[in-house]
Amino acid sequence: MIRITCLGAAGSVTGSNFLVESPGGKKILVDCGLFQGGKQMESRNREDWGFDPGEIETLFLTHAHIDHSGRIPKLVRDGFKGQIITSPPTAELCHVMLLDAAHIQEMDAEWQNRKNKRQGKGELDPLYTTEDAEASLKLFSPMERSRVVEVEPGVKARLRNAGHILGSSILELWIEEKSEPFKIVFSGDLGKQNQLIVRDPHEVFDADYLFIESTYGNRKHRSFEDSKDELVEAIRYSVSKDEKIIIPAFAVERTQEILYILGEFHRKGLIPDIPIYLDSPLAIKATEIFRKNKKYYDDEAQAIVEEGYDPFDMPNLKFTESTRESIAINEKAGSAIIIAGSGMCTAGRIKHHLKHNLWREGASIVIVGFQAKGTTGRKIVEGAKRVRIFRENVAVRAKVFTIGGFSAHADQDDLLEWISNFESKPRVFVVHGELTASEALAKKIQERFNLETHVPRWKQRLVLKPREAAYEEPPGEEAAPDMQTMVLNNIVDLENELKMLKKRVKSREMGDRIDEDEIDRLKYLQEELQAILSNG
Ligand SMILES: [Zn+2]
Repeated sequence: MIRITCLGAAGSVTGSNFLVESPGGKKILVDCGLFQGGKQMESRNREDWGFDPGEIETLFLTHAHIDHSGRIPKLVRDGFKGQIITSPPTAELCHVMLLDAAHIQEMDAEWQNRKNKRQGKGELDPLYTTEDAEASLKLFSPMERSRVVEVEPGVKARLRNAGHILGSSILELWIEEKSEPFKIVFSGDLGKQNQLIVRDPHEVFDADYLFIESTYGNRKHRSFEDSKDELVEAIRYSVSKDEKIIIPAFAVERTQEILYILGEFHRKGLIPDIPIYLDSPLAIKATEIFRKNKKYYDDEAQAIVEEGYDPFDMPNLKFTESTRESIAINEKAGSAIIIAGSGMCTAGRIKHHLKHNLWREGASIVIVGFQAKGTTGRKIVEGAKRVRIFRENVAVRAKVFTIGGFSAHADQDDLLEWISNFESKPRVFVVHGELTASEALAKKIQERFNLETHVPRWKQRLVLKPREAAYEEPPGEEAAPDMQTMVLNNIVDLENELKMLKKRVKSREMGDRIDEDEIDRLKYLQEELQAILSNG
């Protein structure tokens, strides 16, 4: 009997983490990602693992994105000493990404601690440090895809191309139960058909159990050609107004895809020769890794190389590594394209570019990636009139282009198409999606293929037998707080903050120092509260 506990990316998109317990009692992890998007979700990163990291012998990592890899340094700090099996490009990308993630964790803790100090609260340790990230890099054991490895007697595994980002993999696991082998497949994040740079996802024909992602389980992407036209339109619009085009992008894959497309525009003369800045040290490093790993390109990307071009370069492209160069971008008037991270506008240099350009009529904000609930990017997409950046309310007057067709994720049609390859009738667990997306995909799978589906909840444990499954309830005391508790907790926090503010104003400690900005912020808060209340 196999037990699989869904410890992340169940009912949510981020935090991917599945614990597989084999009949022999061995414990295997699939992915170890960071929860992202809002305080509530991110607080999960500090929770207990729900297992002893010291007991895990193997971690399979499907790909380098932080929502799949970003808790590995914490796992190592908490006692994991096993091997991390992943594809060679994933290992290379993790090398730069985990060090960068550790730096962000250290900075976040430092910022929080300055705040805590002012409020008389205790110190907070970073989730993990650069040292933890360095220690975790030593445990990576890269393995070419398509090779079968024996993880332990009775447990075999193979990675297959998932077509999502460079090095991304599907995981096939064969587990013997009383000498009867059965197969579990984790799709990882699946790419769409004809995605740029990487080859199409490997077609898998058989499984007893399938864990499939559902990031876009309820959506269909706009066509890729339409999306390219929209990008040209955004660029031409802001060039005609002499303003900037801001593209928030994930450092890995999305950034390289945008460079690839801009390169094509350049070769075809579709856009004017304005400066293009790649303003992200992480994305610059990732782009170098993409340049090196040509053997993983698809035919189209290889053809560009054979014609003598670098798919990720053009004459007007500048890599801005230092902070000084980054600041200088906004000191220069005139049109330019700026690609910067983070992809959901929650951290990094993109915040500075948004602060400088979001309020400018004629500027463009081009959203090319998934925006999780609670992030600044999501607010912009949903049409917020103002967003908060660096404790300031910045008006949104720039034109927002949400371009869906550049997604590195399969949409509903792609996912169903990929499932149609299965000749066996797997039982399907729909994960890695917001609940509505996962449920919508589960329903489609049932209708179209007559397969049994289940959408596991966070911390739910699944008991799998050859061709049989039972679902245990997640433990009551550990279950995620419901909406009502979350709202009540937030109200208590707010009340405390207000009490403190009142006290400080009364004691005149702050009386003279309240400026218009602060009064503005209070008014804004009041408006937001009224908006929430009027929404019922
Ligand atoms: Zn991903």
